[in-house]
Amino acid sequence: MTQDADGQTEVSPSSDLRYRRVILKLSGESLADSGGRGISGEESGEIARQIKAAHQSGCQIAIVIGGGNILRGAQFSGRNAMVQEATAHYMGMLATVINSLSMQDALESIGLQTRVMSAVPMEKIAETFIRRRAIQHLEKGRVVILAAGIGNPFVTTDTAAAQRALELDADVVLKATRVDGVYSDDPEKNPHAVLYESLTYGEVIAKNLKVMDATAIALCNEHAKPILVFNFKKDGNIVKAIQGETVGTWIGTTKLPPHG
Ligand code: UDP
Repeated sequence: MTQDADGQTEVSPSSDLRYRRVILKLSGESLADSGGRGISGEESGEIARQIKAAHQSGCQIAIVIGGGNILRGAQFSGRNAMVQEATAHYMGMLATVINSLSMQDALESIGLQTRVMSAVPMEKIAETFIRRRAIQHLEKGRVVILAAGIGNPFVTTDTAAAQRALELDADVVLKATRVDGVYSDDPEKNPHAVLYESLTYGEVIAKNLKVMDATAIALCNEHAKPILVFNFKKDGNIVKAIQGETVGTWIGTTKLPPHG
């Protein structure tokens, strides 16, 4: 690591780094305790520690955080007829900002430099997302937390992760889930569900596999942006995924990762 003229730490990538830059997609529930609601200091702290460990290898990390531990627009408007669906989606975007601010402090409390960049301007608490500025932050070794999704209703933060991966030229979308990867069926309901080691986008679409939302899959497919779906709950898996070790299910134009 070196310091630039502003005293900022520049992370020197190690030469055997598999990914130069990644988008890590965390659901809001990943910050919660077992009930899936609210924010748990313990869970956030563990995720922050793993991000720090992975960051030390020199990989540039941008995080997209969901808001499902607080509110998902479609579900909320379904239950509350007086709230229009578009309004509920904006509420969901605000939930992602709450999570992003919490994750920012979790990361900074252990010594990482971060920036929260929001797709919805709110200058008192976050920078507004500007693509070139986000890239500068990443190049200076700051972990960038991308809040408020893409800033538009009727999509989820999966789409935001795919969109930002394209814009920021990330090597891969790392989708953190509670299961080991993509299965032929819901493994929490069907004990015979089979875990796929790798899939093509075409297979994900043809088999209607629940990986990320359809818009996210379409974007990644169209632009050949790989996705790795992995279990963030297993020991050290966030570090392994960011450092390009073999975990979870790889989805790309070909069935196996280029170096797999
Ligand atoms: N959302 C939105 N536009 C976006 C991203 C998110 O409208 O670009 C809303 C949407 O209602 C979504 C909610 O924010 O349900 C929370 O995000 P998400 O469901 O992706 O959270 P997660 O399930 O990953 O915790």
